[in-house]
Amino acid sequence: MPIDPVCKMQVDILDAAASHDYHAETVYFCSLDCKKQFEADPDKYMRGMSDEEKIAS
Ligand SMILES: [Zn+2]
Repeated sequence: MPIDPVCKMQVDILDAAASHDYHAETVYFCSLDCKKQFEADPDKYMRGMSDEEKIAS
């Protein structure tokens, strides 16, 4: 299941309140508030998602 990058909740695609195309990826959100937060600073949230291993270094 995709994860809402803002609140890190798992989101069922069929239940997602909103989605957003970010580069080649579709991101799903549990609520419109999360989508708004994401759109305010998408890089911040996408960095947090994909660099989990890099945080340690
Ligand atoms: Zn959320």
